[in-house]
Amino acid sequence: MTRRPAVVIVGASLGGFRTAHALRRLRFEGRITLVGDESHLPYDRPPLSKEVLTGEKVPEDAYFRTREFFGEQGIEFKPGSAAVGLDGDDRTVTLATGEQLGYDAAVIATGARPRRLPGTEGLPGVHVMRTLDDSAAIRSALDGADRVVVVGAGFIGSEVAASARDRGVAVTVLEAADQPLVAAVGAEVGQRCAALHDLYGTELRCGAGVEGIAPTSAGLAVRLAGGTAVGCDLVVVGIGVIPNIEWLEGSGIETDRAVRCDQFMRTSLPYVYALGDLASWYNPRYGERMRVEHWTNTVQQSTTVARNIVASLAGNDPVAYDGIPYFWSDQYGHRLQLVGRASMDAPVFVHDPPDSPAMMALYRDGDRLGGAFAIDTVGPLMQMRSLLVRNGGFDEALELAAGLD
Ligand SMILES: Cc1cc2nc3c(=O)[nH]c(=O)nc-3n(C[C@H](O)[C@H](O)[C@H](O)COP(=O)(O)OP(=O)(O)OC[C@H]3O[C@@H](n4cnc5c(N)ncnc54)[C@H](O)[C@@H]3O)c2cc1C
Repeated sequence: MTRRPAVVIVGASLGGFRTAHALRRLRFEGRITLVGDESHLPYDRPPLSKEVLTGEKVPEDAYFRTREFFGEQGIEFKPGSAAVGLDGDDRTVTLATGEQLGYDAAVIATGARPRRLPGTEGLPGVHVMRTLDDSAAIRSALDGADRVVVVGAGFIGSEVAASARDRGVAVTVLEAADQPLVAAVGAEVGQRCAALHDLYGTELRCGAGVEGIAPTSAGLAVRLAGGTAVGCDLVVVGIGVIPNIEWLEGSGIETDRAVRCDQFMRTSLPYVYALGDLASWYNPRYGERMRVEHWTNTVQQSTTVARNIVASLAGNDPVAYDGIPYFWSDQYGHRLQLVGRASMDAPVFVHDPPDSPAMMALYRDGDRLGGAFAIDTVGPLMQMRSLLVRNGGFDEALELAAGLD
């Protein structure tokens, strides 16, 4: 009897789960082991800062599938199992329990964890938003809260702020930069994102550097540079993430604060792939190395990785991943979307009705369309996405936008 090839996938969230499922869809008949350090079934993160916080969904609604699914698909799911090492010579992944899993192909999908404010670790009432448990804890803390402070006006912080407002809680968002989201969307569009907070009664303070958080008799005090403080019942910190790559130390896998991959999502070790929030890869579409921390990128990369594992086991050529960055965010009942990349040039607003947050702005990349950002303009934004796939010109994008109004 021939030995069945074994794929070991480390990280049982979006990227890991989707890779396992894609392998089965591609009729891969070998063994698949999905290893995750969380105790839950694999689950989706976008609802955690949105419907789970507002109460429209319960945390368990975020699970991708029931436990039976894994049995039906022949995927051995190992929850509560942290990987602590990978040996490319022996082709094994070692778990914290000491168990060693041999692989013909391994997938690194251990994602990222939130950055914390120094000195606040373990302080009651100070939360981050990444896991189902984080979301459940914030959800119940909001139950009895009058005021929440959100540190960081990025997409996660803004979603938490919007969900808390939906629950009737007073919200102050503290942002260290002069404008939210400048790096992601530029100042002009950042201003529109800021205006949404204002419209729904969230206090947004920019240029507000947090120096520390201290417990008080009434709750918590968030101390700002300059000596002022904001009192609140709970704090949610959303100041970015750190890729979970420490467990790969000593494996010989090349890293640059992320796992470095080629255009085929292969790491520097043979038969080892990486994807999702922790992977930097060479994107042939842009001729650049990039790392993207968004849902659609992770899903598309999981398909590429599954295909390339099957191709490599069959001795076929791999396919490159040349995805166009895309994300959405839901805030205060509005849908925000960015496709492609924002450029340093001021964007052109092609849809901007008065008295409405709805808008669409286009970014240039030389004479090509570089990207588009929209609020509540879903169809036209998707048309710009198709244009980007075709590497359309900026003039063509303007014409298309004129026809859409
Ligand atoms: C609250 C929230 C809302 C979001 N909303 C949106 C949205 O609206 N739109 C959008 O485009 N994107 C959104 N995202 C981003 C999107 O969810 C991520 O891009 C995606 O989860 C990345 O998937 P991943 O598999 O790479 O990593 P992760 O989802 O981080 O999963 C990695 C898994 O590996 C586990 N792990 C870590 N170390 C080990 C180890 N040593 N051994 C075993 N397991 C380990 C982790 O515990 C985790 O379960 C959101 C993210 C969050 C947190």
